[in-house]
Amino acid sequence: MLTSPKPLTETDLEHLRHCLQLAEEALQAGDEPFGSVLVSGNNKVLATARNRVNELNNLAHPELELVRWAADNLSADERKRATLYTSGEHCPMCAAAHGWIGVGPIVYLSSARQLQQWLQEAGAPAAPIRFLPVQELIVDVEVRGPAEGELLEQIKQLQLRYHARHDG
Ligand SMILES: [Zn+2]
Repeated sequence: MLTSPKPLTETDLEHLRHCLQLAEEALQAGDEPFGSVLVSGNNKVLATARNRVNELNNLAHPELELVRWAADNLSADERKRATLYTSGEHCPMCAAAHGWIGVGPIVYLSSARQLQQWLQEAGAPAAPIRFLPVQELIVDVEVRGPAEGELLEQIKQLQLRYHARHDG
């Protein structure tokens, strides 16, 4: 059974705004708007990443980049205490990597289900994989999100802007 996500804190919202900025940077670089921030157990930003699918390949998701960074740069204990903030809930590839490397909590701005709804509304092409909630893929992961109100609306608008530009 899935545990329902915990409410977001003020600190969470601050890091999610940072993710939104990175997503906007990705959009400005012509890529899909996704951005992520890895934060240590004592609330220090360790690394940031944005989507680079358009310059690399379809595996260049920011969550995977940060999980790889954590594998190379943090001890098992530091990874466990680190939180991965992201503009959109991890896809199954990134969730599995997150679980294998043993990174701590996941906090997302929008859920994968919300994103799929928006993309469907926008008439975007369907993804070639199925999306599952991260709690179904990672054992004992703490999850917070999605955000509500203005912040959620902002990421939705970035996604719609990308697809209006690329699928029409
Ligand atoms: Zn992914």
